[in-house]
Amino acid sequence: MKYQRIKGTQDILPEAEPYWAHVTSTVQALARRFGFEQISTPMFENTALFARGVGEDTDIVSKEMYTWLDRGKDGEQGESLTLRPEFTAGVMRAYIENGFASRPQPQKLYSVGPIFRREKPQKGRYRQFHQFNAEIIGSDDPVADFEILLLTHTLYRELGFKNLVFQINSTGDPECKPRYVAALKQYLLPYADKLAPTDRDRLERNPLRVLDSKERETLPYLSGAPHIVDYLNDDCKKHFDEVLSYLSAVDIPYQINHRLVRGLDYYTKTVFELWGEGLGAQAALCGGGRYDGLIELLGGAPTPGVGFATGIERIIMSMQDQGIEPPALARPQVFVAYLNEAAKLVAVKLVTDLRNAGVGARIAFGGRSLKAQMKDADRTGCRFALIIGEDELKTNSVILRDLGKSEQASVPMADLQTWVTNLIDVRTTPPQEEQPESAAEEAK
Ligand code: ATP
Ligand code: MG
Repeated sequence: MKYQRIKGTQDILPEAEPYWAHVTSTVQALARRFGFEQISTPMFENTALFARGVGEDTDIVSKEMYTWLDRGKDGEQGESLTLRPEFTAGVMRAYIENGFASRPQPQKLYSVGPIFRREKPQKGRYRQFHQFNAEIIGSDDPVADFEILLLTHTLYRELGFKNLVFQINSTGDPECKPRYVAALKQYLLPYADKLAPTDRDRLERNPLRVLDSKERETLPYLSGAPHIVDYLNDDCKKHFDEVLSYLSAVDIPYQINHRLVRGLDYYTKTVFELWGEGLGAQAALCGGGRYDGLIELLGGAPTPGVGFATGIERIIMSMQDQGIEPPALARPQVFVAYLNEAAKLVAVKLVTDLRNAGVGARIAFGGRSLKAQMKDADRTGCRFALIIGEDELKTNSVILRDLGKSEQASVPMADLQTWVTNLIDVRTTPPQEEQPESAAEEAK
């Protein structure tokens, strides 16, 4: 029997590590630079939380969740649990449950981790993937929306993406949104028969969702649809204008996209996606928005919030598409080789000392000939070999070979400490020619 990974999941191989390390460390450093703190919520929660928090009507809840019945006591059936299909609902639950409302507001919280959705697997679409998620909870100030937008933009810019443009819209609030939804429905009803079947359905249940439909049959009827910005009340209009004015103030480009909405009742005011070079609407880099009704919906006191989420795999895929290279990772530059069992004992101590001194080092495996060990040293890309042979055992020294220059010298063990101290510089500096362009440029 051969085991295979589950459809839609992936093994993230060591080859991908430079990307993962770079993206996750950039994300974390940036979140902290902006004053966010990390919150890690469980990977599974009560199904009802997501049903409520994401919305029964969404693709996610209606067909993409991994849900199961837990074991109960004494063989009884337990509660219904679900692997998280997004972060926001769990973060809001934690905000309420941990009494964050009594901490200074707003709370700026970020999370990184795996997300599960039973989608049709395809390029850039997995059933287990990873998100970076950020939320500002407890402020209705448009500057909070701006903070989320700026965080998003800075992240992609610092990762090396070019020509970034926000697609932005406002979805109004519970006062003005219904007026727009009624107008939209009235506009679409005459075309109901021509819309894609799913959209005909949506038109009845949630007309806003028709607006961001990707169905080919529906698209032609959307261009003439009324614009929500024309229906905003004064508060929503002022909020939207302020967010846009902050973007303009720092020269971040945006386009108002009248079809961009989040089709759920608790979404309010700002919604956005970030688009990058060469990417169409299908592959928006990420999206987010304001959801002033969500915490209340989940049982907390009315509390405004705004946030965004981005997929780490999508970021990495887009980096690869655009030839953006991550910096090379540090790797051991010293290889310890030995002639026989007695020398091996010394080698074990030596590699321990090196590592304790902060120097990345490898030790030869397998009791093979020195020649074979030197091949390994080359293969692993080490710059130096430390070789312990008969003479070295007798004289308490090591041979230090510079593998690049094929030069070598005998160094007394006692002097090795100085040599090792010098090596500390070497430890984080990969050989020059291996540095990718972007990293080399930064270093200049
Ligand atoms: P899409 O339109 O691509 O389905 P979405 O609207 O479902 O995205 P969100 O729910 O807002 O996306 O999730 C935020 C981000 O998570 C997306 O912008 C994308 O980068 C990533 N993402 C969403 N679904 C997947 C998936 N199945 N595999 C990998 N990444 C994903
Ligand atoms: Mg999706």
